[in-house]
Amino acid sequence: MSPKLLSRETLAEAFGWMDRLLAARGVRGEIYMFGGSAIVFSYRGRPATLDLDGRFEPQSAVHAVAVEVADRLGIDRGWLNDQATSYLTTSLESDSARIVDLPNLTVASISPDRLLVMKVGAARPWADYDDIDILLTYLGLTSAREVLALCEELNPGQALPEGRDRLLAEALTRLEGPGARASRAQIAARLSASLGSHDGRYRCQAITANNSQCSIEIDPGQRCPVHNWIAPRL
Ligand SMILES: [Zn+2]
Repeated sequence: MSPKLLSRETLAEAFGWMDRLLAARGVRGEIYMFGGSAIVFSYRGRPATLDLDGRFEPQSAVHAVAVEVADRLGIDRGWLNDQATSYLTTSLESDSARIVDLPNLTVASISPDRLLVMKVGAARPWADYDDIDILLTYLGLTSAREVLALCEELNPGQALPEGRDRLLAEALTRLEGPGARASRAQIAARLSASLGSHDGRYRCQAITANNSQCSIEIDPGQRCPVHNWIAPRL
């Protein structure tokens, strides 16, 4: 049986259940979400992910309710995965978005620029190239120099593996040129459709009580004053 992919809707449903189950145990849970699941859930750059890379607290209670929710929703029991936390430099970053804001569950999402820096560092061709294209578009970055400056700003003094300037130049050419899997214009069109832009503004994607979405509209590149979600610069 192939594992069921996690869409934003499935993840929102899972978080709602986790909140209720944690409330029944009298526990407040926190998850810090990074990796492809943040692209799916927080920035809506693609429709689905295999699992959610996260760091969570308290570990045993959050893990137990995640397994219970998996059985209810028919998703893989390992959907909430903390195997990749060694890639994180620190825990909860001050620039993260509070993308799920429920009474007993908070999910903080890695910011898109921090996620881009992680993806550029990892740069696995099969797993990271599409995400790098999506994040370059989301952040409106058009030169390798800007991206390398961002890497230095967020990970000061930490040298990138060799050849990353060439990799970024190739990604940027790919976004502009013919023969691309998806051009910048195509990715931008997809993003603004899935984020539901109104007159160039974007609705904050945070999920709050009763599974409703934050109603604040944000200008490109600006943050929701409540949830710190950052709108794309398309
Ligand atoms: Zn908001």
